[in-house]
Amino acid sequence: MSSKKKIMIVEDEPSLVFTLKDTLESEGYDVAIVETGTDALEQVADFTPDLMLLDIMLPGMSGFEVCKQIREMKFNFPIIMLTARDQEIDKVTGLNIGADDYITKPFGVKELLARIQARLRRTTSFNKPGLIDVVNLGEVRLELNSSKAIRPDKTIDLTTREVELIRFLVANANEPVTRDTLLEHVWRYEYSTNTRTVDVHISKLRTKIEMNPDDPRYLVTLHGVGYMIKMS
Ligand code: CA
Repeated sequence: MSSKKKIMIVEDEPSLVFTLKDTLESEGYDVAIVETGTDALEQVADFTPDLMLLDIMLPGMSGFEVCKQIREMKFNFPIIMLTARDQEIDKVTGLNIGADDYITKPFGVKELLARIQARLRRTTSFNKPGLIDVVNLGEVRLELNSSKAIRPDKTIDLTTREVELIRFLVANANEPVTRDTLLEHVWRYEYSTNTRTVDVHISKLRTKIEMNPDDPRYLVTLHGVGYMIKMS
């Protein structure tokens, strides 16, 4: 059985595809190439990549749309988007729809490899399906592999980010976690994030996993410190 990490490249520019394939294969990755978003969506379930390099400017469906649909399909492997120099504004759009990182063309091989390795390390340590599956918080049962919060009154879908946030807090249960630590490990210092981002996500998450979000019993705020998940 091969233990090679698999990378799917979605890019329509032949010279760049050639360079990327050559570089990644020589680094020991198993590489699949597709030239359109439609092909990516068709092949992603068969290839099951560990990471995707996704161009924004593709013929037909844009990279943004591809990213959005992949997240809707509940794949949570990291996606690094390939963007032209003048597409700075697009970063916000992309991160909001579930991309993990950006790299601006033209980029150096070393930079690309460093980004890929950073994402893959991160995925292995915190985001691997099966690492933590079920978390019981009182009456609420969290099934993380299927991204569900099962409450007595209803079942709610959790976003990929919320699942990551829960996994990180649960891995550090009953210990204070600062906002900066969450930014580092859950958001990986993404473009345009700050501690306010963390607060907004925590509030939203509370409405899903706490029966009384205004008086949380499990996902608590430690004033002047950060957050903590309380588990017995
Ligand atoms: Ca392109």
